[in-house]
Amino acid sequence: MAAQAARLSLGVALLVLGLKTLAYLLTGSVALLSDALESTVNVAAALAALAAIRYAQKPPDDTHPFGHSKAEYFSAVLEGVLVVLAALLIAKEALPKLLRPTPLEGLGPGLLVSLLASGANGLLAYHLIREGRRHRSPALTADGYHVLSDVLTSAGVLLGIGLAWLTGFWALDPLLALLVAGNILLMGFRLVRHSVGGLMDEGLPPEEVEGIRRVIQERLSGRALEVHDLKTRRAGPRTFLEFHLVVPGRMSVEEAHRLCDELEGDLEKAFPGLVVTIHVEPESERQR
Ligand code: ZN
Ligand code: ZN
Repeated sequence: MAAQAARLSLGVALLVLGLKTLAYLLTGSVALLSDALESTVNVAAALAALAAIRYAQKPPDDTHPFGHSKAEYFSAVLEGVLVVLAALLIAKEALPKLLRPTPLEGLGPGLLVSLLASGANGLLAYHLIREGRRHRSPALTADGYHVLSDVLTSAGVLLGIGLAWLTGFWALDPLLALLVAGNILLMGFRLVRHSVGGLMDEGLPPEEVEGIRRVIQERLSGRALEVHDLKTRRAGPRTFLEFHLVVPGRMSVEEAHRLCDELEGDLEKAFPGLVVTIHVEPESERQR
């Protein structure tokens, strides 16, 4: 299902990229160029994400006993690099035009082709968001909103070029291009920030750790003495959790193990993708 949606996204993205490039060639507008470059980044990112997801899903093996789920961070880092290149390219084209604005040509057919591209993108966004909701897939829904934000960017660009056409204020074209470049850079920064966090074994945000502690407290209710040294780290769709569980020294190994299995079951049910490791200790190891 997700693979099918990814292939559809890719197909539409390629079509949109072709149309937007045509619109740029017809008009020579740098704003339309920046719009097309944003689509290029999206296509490259979609390809990289497909490859990374396929690799990340491989089960753990002898050389990668914790699995391959961090693979997807590499595709995000690649996307970050592409984003910076795209922004630089836009700036290189837009700055000279900002200093010496020139009237655009072929605006009628150019804007029409661009509208067509945005229409196709809009339909794709609608489809992805609806499918994402129906299958409860946050990844699909997020994809849909990403495409929708592209549609809004394009709409802004089209409006701006229309305005420049009406008023003859042609500096609007490079100005819009630089605005799009800024937006692309911001998007790339967020992506890279997230990926570097994952590669550096960043822990879960405090509110999620609190949620984990609540589930542990509920299950323990008097059977164990305390939990300490609780650590989390995320690796793509998986999160690794480990902690020390202090139980009464007389508790049998069998009972302590059952308690751990129950805890692990509760946690993995409440937080899909969580991998739990518990270290059992007697009360002499108590820290409070
Ligand atoms: Zn301990
Ligand atoms: Zn066991």
